Amino acid sequence: MCKMNFFKELKDFNIPFHKNWDAGKHSNFKIGGKITAMIEIYKISQMMDAMRILNTYKKRYFVIGNLTNVLISDGYLDVIFIRLKGDFEKILWNRKNLIFVGAGVSNEKLLKFMVKNNLGGLEFLAGIPGTIGGAVYMNAGAYGKLIGDYIIDILILDRKGRFKVVQNKNIFSYRNSIFQKDRSVILGAEIKVFSKDKKKVLKEIKEIISIRRAKHPWKAACAGSFFKNTDKFPAGMLIEDAGLKGFSVGGAMVSKMHGNFIINKGDATFKDVIKLANIIKNKVYKKYKIKLKEEVVIIK
Ligand SMILES: Cc1cc2nc3c(=O)[nH]c(=O)nc-3n(C[C@H](O)[C@H](O)[C@H](O)COP(=O)(O)OP(=O)(O)OC[C@H]3O[C@@H](n4cnc5c(N)ncnc54)[C@H](O)[C@@H]3O)c2cc1C
Repeated sequence: MCKMNFFKELKDFNIPFHKNWDAGKHSNFKIGGKITAMIEIYKISQMMDAMRILNTYKKRYFVIGNLTNVLISDGYLDVIFIRLKGDFEKILWNRKNLIFVGAGVSNEKLLKFMVKNNLGGLEFLAGIPGTIGGAVYMNAGAYGKLIGDYIIDILILDRKGRFKVVQNKNIFSYRNSIFQKDRSVILGAEIKVFSKDKKKVLKEIKEIISIRRAKHPWKAACAGSFFKNTDKFPAGMLIEDAGLKGFSVGGAMVSKMHGNFIINKGDATFKDVIKLANIIKNKVYKKYKIKLKEEVVIIK
């Protein structure tokens, strides 16, 4: 079926889209080319229509958050990105220690809500620049805490367009969730929170941010930690011990501040990053017989 019909159907169902969307420019890595289109979804009915249309036209698609954990290939990609906005950017607080957070809510917005309402428990999300959808998909975390440990259930739309509330049982492991396999659309999650004085919550958030500023290349174009930590050692430690801090391929460089951050010095290409990542993996393997695995989601 031709492209025209796909976009006409989106239009007929009032689903906004941006053709030839510059995905690389919008990604935190600032690497990658243009994609067929980025669709914006504001309410559940639009998501259901969009999924039906995407399936009808057999489109390859990804729901995205803030693109802070992805590396996108250069050139043109025939792929559709979906961004959840509107109703998915809402936080509902119906029960004392439970909040329902839409997948499009940024961690920053969630933490502001928590401070305002004297709620704590999720301070560890401070400085993780993504959305709740991205956090659930990746089981994001820091300082020994993981979002998966705070989630009660997740509202999803599966790939066949069926709504499901999935209880948090066998869903999460380190930087992993079952959604990485089944590729469901995460619409929101019910999250456990605790009453906590706003001054304390804010103090902890500020402390975490200042630790991050001191340890991470805070403002660099990157996708956070490139590799997953291994059972025994943090990936950054292995990379630093292999003498790779500051090592570059083209415009991609192992951060001088933190071994597990590959940064874009300005003109890095997808190939530069992949080449650098392979060198890192080979060197670490040669030295420690440990295989590093990417945490970053590669879209090519
Ligand atoms: C400076 C910096 C620091 C970071 N620090 C940390 C850290 O301490 N801990 C940590 O865990 N991560 C960290 N990250 C990585 C990243 O911010 C997290 O993984 C974050 O949770 C990704 O969220 P996102 O909204 O940007 O997702 P994206 O990057 O947009 O997407 C990531 C993946 O999730 C999928 N996805 C996103 N939303 C949905 C949805 N609604 N439904 C289905 N799939 C979805 C996408 O398809 C993609 O495969 C850091 C990144 C940066 C740049």
